[in-house]
Amino acid sequence: MSLNKDSKAILVIYIQIVLCLFLALAYGFLSPYYLPTAKPVKTGLPKISDKLVLVLMDGMRKDFAFDPKLMPNTYRLSQEGASGISKTSSFPITIAAMRALASGVPYSARDILYNYQRTKTVTKTDNGKVRFTNKYALDESIDSIFQAAKKDGRKTVLSGDDIWINCYGSAISEAILAKADADTPHGTTDDSDVHKGALSFLAEADFDILIIHYQSLDRTGHNYTPLSSKYRKKALEVDRYIAELEEKLPPNTTLFIFSDHGQSDEGWHGKLDNPPPIVTEPPFIFAKSNIAKIQNLSVEQIDFAPTLAFLLGLPIPVQSEGIAIEKIFNLSEKEKADLLLANLKSHTNYIEQLQSNTKVNIKLPNSQVQSKYQTGDFSQVISLARKELNNINQLVELKTKFNLSPFTKAYLLLSLLVFLLLIVTSKTETIPWLVLAISLSSGLVAALGGSIFLFGSLL
Ligand SMILES: [Zn+2]
Repeated sequence: MSLNKDSKAILVIYIQIVLCLFLALAYGFLSPYYLPTAKPVKTGLPKISDKLVLVLMDGMRKDFAFDPKLMPNTYRLSQEGASGISKTSSFPITIAAMRALASGVPYSARDILYNYQRTKTVTKTDNGKVRFTNKYALDESIDSIFQAAKKDGRKTVLSGDDIWINCYGSAISEAILAKADADTPHGTTDDSDVHKGALSFLAEADFDILIIHYQSLDRTGHNYTPLSSKYRKKALEVDRYIAELEEKLPPNTTLFIFSDHGQSDEGWHGKLDNPPPIVTEPPFIFAKSNIAKIQNLSVEQIDFAPTLAFLLGLPIPVQSEGIAIEKIFNLSEKEKADLLLANLKSHTNYIEQLQSNTKVNIKLPNSQVQSKYQTGDFSQVISLARKELNNINQLVELKTKFNLSPFTKAYLLLSLLVFLLLIVTSKTETIPWLVLAISLSSGLVAALGGSIFLFGSLL
């Protein structure tokens, strides 16, 4: 059978569609399965602090946070409390860090696409705050510390970017939103309003969790690079904000300062499939109430979710894959062992619910932790529990990794180029419109996915 020119073009388009679908699958648009109906278990442990002030310093690099000359207050807090780096759990972008932090679940490529379709309904109140009535937050099918807090009758408030609302919706009960700045291509470089909002929330002290999101450092880095004098100046400014927050903290409140991702010397997040450590190892600091003095910790961003749950005495978000950072707390070895045991119980509980509600079949190995606990050797219990938690994570392959081979990258790029060439050179009037529409839309999906992986970041 011989094909004429148009039939050949259609055939190539069909092949492209198959390729695009294959690539879409390969690149994680099919994210790992999470059981949305799973119920968390109570840890049975008392809360460690009454309140949490959570400060996101967007795009802060570790070499800045831990340098007494560049950020004196941040550095001082890092030495007084617990500090280190937290490895980004999937992509080094803001929303991925937010997901990891509060849910203990890594962010997938599918989530990126999904999140860009979010809409929300905002109602303004007279006092300049806003409330949200949107039904569809990004993570409504995934548990979080904010949802756990809400269920427990506690209140989470926000001063900062509305990206938090996209993610956590009505779990955040009140907010003062950052204003967009039309003069800069990367959003606002002025956090004075966000800081003012944060101070007003602190003055009222009517919250259990206060989220503060300073964006100016990230935006300044994107505009002028982290090596610029402007970034240095901005770092000092945000550092001053930290000292002002510290002064106004309510009693028995833990201050948690963290960065979602670093920034390359060129002012970007790096290529998302292979970013440098300055991007993927952003700094974190726990300070003030009930926090131990310990430095140079190395954790994963997903580990914050169980840690913050223990801090506030909330159930661990049920789908969380994180392992609590017990070292940061001023607790006895036995109390720390209890945290890890509760963490293990939460993990096991979720796996059991997965097994009874889905076709997933995972054979959990016998746990040795309980018998070790009886011997009273609690530091052994801690390390054994950590090992078992890691084993469970590996066993169910909960971790999502995006290490693409050079071949796969070349394949994606090439198929995109062929596709684009075909669209440009085809006589569109001779190609059935449906085929064209399907190939265009699948091409867009592949192009967006491809650009995320190959050419850097969106946020
Ligand atoms: Zn960011």
